Amino acid sequence: MKSISVFCGANTGFDPDFSEIARSTGETLAKRSIRLVYGAGNIGLMGVIADAVLENGRQVLGVIPGFLKEKEVCHTGLTELIITQTMHKRKEIMAENSDGFIILPGGFGTLDEFFEILTWRQLRLHNKPIGLLNVNGFYDHLLAHVRKMWKEGFLKDSNLALVTVSDSLNDLLEKMALPANIAEEKWL
Ligand code: AMP
Repeated sequence: MKSISVFCGANTGFDPDFSEIARSTGETLAKRSIRLVYGAGNIGLMGVIADAVLENGRQVLGVIPGFLKEKEVCHTGLTELIITQTMHKRKEIMAENSDGFIILPGGFGTLDEFFEILTWRQLRLHNKPIGLLNVNGFYDHLLAHVRKMWKEGFLKDSNLALVTVSDSLNDLLEKMALPANIAEEKWL
């Protein structure tokens, strides 16, 4: 993988491990010469991961809609910045420019980005790996609800396999590098 999108919070959250994992994720991407693609903010975990990649001399592509540029405090030191008209265009450009997606802790925006890219994969609009980094059990409740959706007949086994989950970044990256599962036809 040459480029990975990371979806994460525009806040840092209360647990200091969240910032620590964002920083080490940035360092690991840099060490592996993988370009970071993200939402271009310089606040929260978004800012932490971007700085970690930049401090290690590697590439960061930020993609941000014009109306958020001010509000979200756009990072001014990125190696590449694309300003879009809409949130939808932002997500489309991030997806086009990435070979895979990693989700760190975050809020509604992070979940929106996670589920949109997951839905696109379920619908076979792409077949790029999606990795959920479950730092300190942050996503345990979400994963429990996903299992509930499976149990209640809204998801198939193959749908569950579309997301790789780990509490270790290196493990996640190794699993994401394996040949991807092809999404089953959702409507069959
Ligand atoms: P959050 O996880 O809510 O801190 O937001 C993290 C990322 O999601 C940032 O790049 C935000 O621009 C984006 N974001 C925030 N709110 C929304 C929203 N309502 N819909 C889609 N993306 C959002």
